[in-house]
Amino acid sequence: MTNKPQSRGIGMTSQRTRDRLVERLRAHGITDTDVLEAIRSVPRHLFVDEALASRAYEDTALPIGNNQTISQPYVVGRMSAALLQSSRRDKVLEIGTGCGYQTAILARLFKRVYSVERIRSLYEQSAKLLRELQVTNISLRCADGYQGLPHLAPFDAIIVTAAPPELPPALVEQIAPGGCMVVPVGKIHSQKLIRVTRDGNRLTEEHLDPVSFVPMLPGRG
Ligand code: SAH
Repeated sequence: MTNKPQSRGIGMTSQRTRDRLVERLRAHGITDTDVLEAIRSVPRHLFVDEALASRAYEDTALPIGNNQTISQPYVVGRMSAALLQSSRRDKVLEIGTGCGYQTAILARLFKRVYSVERIRSLYEQSAKLLRELQVTNISLRCADGYQGLPHLAPFDAIIVTAAPPELPPALVEQIAPGGCMVVPVGKIHSQKLIRVTRDGNRLTEEHLDPVSFVPMLPGRG
């Protein structure tokens, strides 16, 4: 990314293109107006490589380097809407910052976003872009997300955007009472989106859609 973000992507990446994506997501069952407004206002084309900017408003995942992907807009919408079941919207924890697109969406839905990424170059790139876009209610960390952020727990909502083989126990522990976690669990290319809700001391698990995320890997990248 060489140019200033604001000066890139006039034309194919106009507001009208973004509006069309939002209409498409609505037609596919994403109806939460806060989520749709967030997707309408975040310029997704700035989160992908310039060569892919013209495809940024297709409803598809795209590569972001380091073998990682920016999630499909439908999946971002679905997961964000699922998180809003939480009884409060103060603190959200995201595992897997990647290019920072989902982080920017969360920043419009929650008071404060904590996001953890294990690959340093992605962490640095998304920190720079989110600063340029003046997204200020976020704290980014370069660390292993399997541990969560115990010193800042509990979180009203936790979203995991890489797939662990099983529910990570440290993250389950960091869900606040009345809060929830949305996480794709399973093997490579075959995962289930699971929502874990904490009611007092009781945990309930709901199985949402089948999804396909990159694997959640242990340790720092
Ligand atoms: N949230 C992104 C999707 C990123 S892809 C979006 O908006 O499109 C998943 C990301 O999870 C990758 O960047 C990958 O490096 C990261 N990841 C995988 N395992 C992780 C771990 N243990 N801790 C933190 N990040 C992890």
